[in-house]
Amino acid sequence: MKVLPCGHLAPAAGARVCAHLTTDNGPACFRVFTGIRTRFDLLCQECAGSTAPELLDACVGCFDRAEELAHLGWRGSPEVLLRDRELDGTWATRRCPVRPLNDRCLAPAPGGWLALTVDGFVRIDDEDQWLLGPVVLPEERDVERNDGPERPRGPVLHVSRDGRFAAIVSDYGQYGTVVDLAEWITVLDLDRDWNDNEWTRFPFAFLDGDRFVAATDSNRLDVFDAATGRLLTERPTTREDNPEHYLDYYFGALLPSPSGRELLTDGWAWHPVGIPLVIDCAAWLAGDRHAPEHGRHLADRGNAWDTPIAWLDENTVALQGMGSDSPLLDGVELREAATGHLAGSFAGPSGRMWAHDGLLYVAAEPGFEVWDPAEGARIGLLEGFAPIAHRDGVFAELRNDQLRIWTTPR
Ligand SMILES: [Zn+2]
Ligand SMILES: [Zn+2]
Repeated sequence: MKVLPCGHLAPAAGARVCAHLTTDNGPACFRVFTGIRTRFDLLCQECAGSTAPELLDACVGCFDRAEELAHLGWRGSPEVLLRDRELDGTWATRRCPVRPLNDRCLAPAPGGWLALTVDGFVRIDDEDQWLLGPVVLPEERDVERNDGPERPRGPVLHVSRDGRFAAIVSDYGQYGTVVDLAEWITVLDLDRDWNDNEWTRFPFAFLDGDRFVAATDSNRLDVFDAATGRLLTERPTTREDNPEHYLDYYFGALLPSPSGRELLTDGWAWHPVGIPLVIDCAAWLAGDRHAPEHGRHLADRGNAWDTPIAWLDENTVALQGMGSDSPLLDGVELREAATGHLAGSFAGPSGRMWAHDGLLYVAAEPGFEVWDPAEGARIGLLEGFAPIAHRDGVFAELRNDQLRIWTTPR
């Protein structure tokens, strides 16, 4: 180990800081991209405006301390690696005059897909489509709310893995309903009350074993038996009844890990700050009754949340949007689900995202993109393809009375 230009005998950070940032109580600074991948240096206001700032290779201590003062945002651009190659995979296209209510109203079901249309549930298989029957959508209350164009309130369809149960919940809204498609009965009506719901998708996910997890308040999740609607997770969670386990948090989109043992949620807390959490669902179901009130905090994302999220594998989550300042930069952060440790990041992805077999698939502006997190690069682009549903490497686009299916090569 040698003395670094910052003056310390310490491990190198592999990045630089301006000369004003090697002391305690330094000035606030910018993160300035170097142009190589997502690497950046830290520069104070004055140096960021200078044409030839003095930059020093920093030790880890200097860099980390300076980064805590990186409140000024980003300068420059990260490198976006586009290494598109020919994508194999197979296509199947057929006429299919089914119109989902929106892009969240098509979901995988055994043997094909299930759509929610104005007429109700429609089953779609390789050759045909047929109406199962009408469904009464939960009617949203007309409350004071702060709708943004990027958060349109609307129904979202979820289907259980075995296809027996379907749920319609209102993203950015209050209500939902769970239906037993085999018995053709409503299992349960869902209500998460109204508490700034316009900022979060309705937290809902089917679990294995005919169970589902859903929000029953802005800061509460519960598990129910899907066949009977019976509550399986009774417990006190209000501030009055249980101050020790009171959770000051607004749950958002819920995503089970590949094994179903963990739940990732993308919500927020005052002031406001986006905080992705991982909940130990296996422990919860095994008797740790307050597991949802003690989720693992993965990151502080400034005032950003409700971005596309995915489980890359059982141990790694992919969070879209890089950094901790709003607006986040287009890209993906990979975080260890157990610790929140930032395991990697790469610039580029922006759009609805799915993970399959170690790759990330993004429905983006230029088309359907395939990103390899190991390479930090886009490795394929399917122009003109905009799928809205996925299962096990099979992606479905349904628009203009046409069903297009693309199956990944592996
Ligand atoms: Zn400086
Ligand atoms: Zn140093």
